[in-house]
Amino acid sequence: MKIMAVNAGSSSLKFQLLDMPSEGVITSGLVERIGYYNAVFTMKKDDEKITVTQEILNHKEAVHLVVEGLIKNGIIESLDEIKGVGHRVVQGGEIFKNSAIITDEVIEQIKSLSDLAPLHNPANITGIEAFRSFLPNVIQVAVFDTTFHQTMTEDAFLYATPYEWYQNYGVRKYGFHGTSHQFVSERAVELLDNPKAKVIVCHLGNGASLCAVDGGKSVDTSMGLTPLEGIPMGTRSGNIDPTVLMLIADKENKSYAEVLDDLNKRSGFLGVSGISNDSRDILREMRNGNHRAALAHQIQVKRIADYIGSYYVYMGGLDAIIFTAGIGENEGFVRASILQAVKVLGVEVDPVENAKRGERLITTPNSKVKAFIIPTNEEVMIAREVMRLK
Ligand code: ADP
Repeated sequence: MKIMAVNAGSSSLKFQLLDMPSEGVITSGLVERIGYYNAVFTMKKDDEKITVTQEILNHKEAVHLVVEGLIKNGIIESLDEIKGVGHRVVQGGEIFKNSAIITDEVIEQIKSLSDLAPLHNPANITGIEAFRSFLPNVIQVAVFDTTFHQTMTEDAFLYATPYEWYQNYGVRKYGFHGTSHQFVSERAVELLDNPKAKVIVCHLGNGASLCAVDGGKSVDTSMGLTPLEGIPMGTRSGNIDPTVLMLIADKENKSYAEVLDDLNKRSGFLGVSGISNDSRDILREMRNGNHRAALAHQIQVKRIADYIGSYYVYMGGLDAIIFTAGIGENEGFVRASILQAVKVLGVEVDPVENAKRGERLITTPNSKVKAFIIPTNEEVMIAREVMRLK
């Protein structure tokens, strides 16, 4: 059965067509620069990459191009073959404790959460509406980045701010990357053959977050009201004293929104190093002796170790640390640095295994806490959710 997994951003639309329940990828693709005359549509056909550059004014046109491309390239014969569509939605607030079959009411509820995710939820809705117009009779499911973290208890998700801020405006930690944390931690539980396992997932991509998973449930996570909180990332600062906002606004004559933009887009690896948001550039320049590149790496490692230590204590133990996403899956040096920083927990890296790629154990048999690389797959998780709710 063919299921489509969709991730719509404000000017992009990523998709993957999966064969379920085998979870094989039939094709995948991307529309970029939606809203521009030189939008780019790419799609895989066998091992070939098809690229079309043309004007694509909105998401509806983008989806039209995608479904047309699927038929034209012989990937499907008719749209009837697509039996379900799953959409990534960033913010599900406290409304969505689970994935949801999309109805008019669900769309209204997702829109009502836009205050909490002004950059993301409206974009996700445009993707949903576009697919609904082409596939009106096919089940569509919203899969939220936040639902996996809805199991956090109040002590973990509340900020120590006036309680009315939470009651009146929903100010609390929601956490993100939930589909990834869920996919990876479910696999970790299988590998450990222990449904009660306590694991910490390090999703280290351009955006990065950690999640403490106890017995299959998220009990704490590093991102907060928005993805800005937590560890330093490619361009995000992670945690800072909020007073910085006022100080920089004052010194640089900026609005709070502009300073927030600096914290989201010009901080992290990019801000500290002044070189790049990409870990490959940071590590290369660090090896060339660049002090600020080394600092960007070291600050991230230190902060990740801080979180691992605190989650270890909060869960009262730890069975495994899991690495996933671009950096987590590919940068052995970063993994080794983090594991070295938490060595006191009884972690012993196996340098031979850690130098490899793909799903594997990267600690020695003596290691008290294990560590694994587990490649993430948010699309499969989305397709599984569609199958579950069908
Ligand atoms: P996101 O999905 O948040 O944009 P990714 O999970 O794709 O991010 O991760 C991007 C990060 O992974 C970048 O910092 C990049 O340098 C790093 N990375 C390191 N090695 C690789 C690799 N071989 N392929 C892709 N990304 C890599």
